[in-house]
Amino acid sequence: MKINQGTIEIINNIRSVVGDFDKNNPVYLHEPDFRNTKALDYVKNCIENGWVSSAGSWVSKFEEDICKFTGASHTVAVTNGTDGLRLALYLVGVRQGDEVIIPPLSFVGTANAVCHLNAIPHFVDIEATSLGMSPKSLEQRLIDVGMLKNGIVINRETGRRISAILPVDVFGIPCDVKALKKIALRWNLPIIEDCAEALGSKVLIDRKIVHCGTLAQIGVISFNGNKLITTGGGGALITNNNNLAKLAKHISTTAKIQHQWEYNHDQVGWNDRMPNINAALGVAQLENIDDRLIKKKNLFKKYIYAFKDCKFAEIIKTKEDVFSNNWLISLRLKNRDSEVVTKLRNDLLINAFKSGLCLRPAWNLLSNLPMYKNVPSGDISVAEFENQRIINLPSSPQLDDL
Ligand SMILES: *Cc1c(COP(=O)(O)O)cnc(C)c1O
Repeated sequence: MKINQGTIEIINNIRSVVGDFDKNNPVYLHEPDFRNTKALDYVKNCIENGWVSSAGSWVSKFEEDICKFTGASHTVAVTNGTDGLRLALYLVGVRQGDEVIIPPLSFVGTANAVCHLNAIPHFVDIEATSLGMSPKSLEQRLIDVGMLKNGIVINRETGRRISAILPVDVFGIPCDVKALKKIALRWNLPIIEDCAEALGSKVLIDRKIVHCGTLAQIGVISFNGNKLITTGGGGALITNNNNLAKLAKHISTTAKIQHQWEYNHDQVGWNDRMPNINAALGVAQLENIDDRLIKKKNLFKKYIYAFKDCKFAEIIKTKEDVFSNNWLISLRLKNRDSEVVTKLRNDLLINAFKSGLCLRPAWNLLSNLPMYKNVPSGDISVAEFENQRIINLPSSPQLDDL
């Protein structure tokens, strides 16, 4: 009986924020929003002048706009976030047979990007506050298995090189990149930040507020359909490193040497460039991104209010020195007993879906997926504990208009 009461209370609290829903009128997790944008005009412009593919002025405009918005010196727009991660890892030197340290709580694309280079993911635990990679666990794991020799880190257990650290800003909440960076420097390892979900998320560093991804060698953003803004499909590398930016542009455009008519390529490249027609959509949404972020912040505050006295669940908040874009606002079920939590979680998900409310559990841990079951891993008990009690809530900016 108690469990059902939790489900009823949680669904009622959500209803008080997002308004009424039913099977014929469902409320989704995160929907694209092109209202109050010039998206149609910009796409029409692409079609009328024929520049719809991997060259054209909207791509460079989009890159400039992302630089302005994030404060990064360089942006390279690519076909999607997964390709962006693969490219970024390659650029900092990840090669076949290497290990890349990642957290087990992320979208599968994080681990897949590592494998697309024939490298191997290596799991390090998360911290409960940010849900991102735990600096303590990273440090412990490197001490436990790492050996730094001639500037290269070798995993003593596998004999393989560890060549990068890939933390994730989960649901838009910034990971503790400042602490991670300190450890990375000590071990001479580059950081690629998976800020796929974190456009607009920021951290306070030395009294300056900086955008997620800009403290790493390269940050990678996604513009998939469910993200804060979408280009249909798309991604971007952001970096303050001139050489990495130049190489990113070169390798993502088939490593072609610029020439008006000659086709010459100086290495194996990829065809990763974001098409112009997709970039046009991105430019249109960046024009009112501040408005979108305010709406999501309002929605977050409404959820906080709705759940302030709830016995069963709380809204996940960030620490004071980090600013989430509130991409996916999330609940944490309070009960610490695994069996009780699993029952409530399943009951909640089943009943919510039945009534037209799309909730989502956190991803199944990557370490549970068949292809990543047997890769190297430190202790990941925090990820295992937190993972089963996280529920993502409907977070579309449109929901603030109700
Ligand atoms: C969306 C996402 C990706 C992949 O981006 P795509 O554009 O879908 O390829 C990678 N990592 C995280 C954490 C994501 O949320």
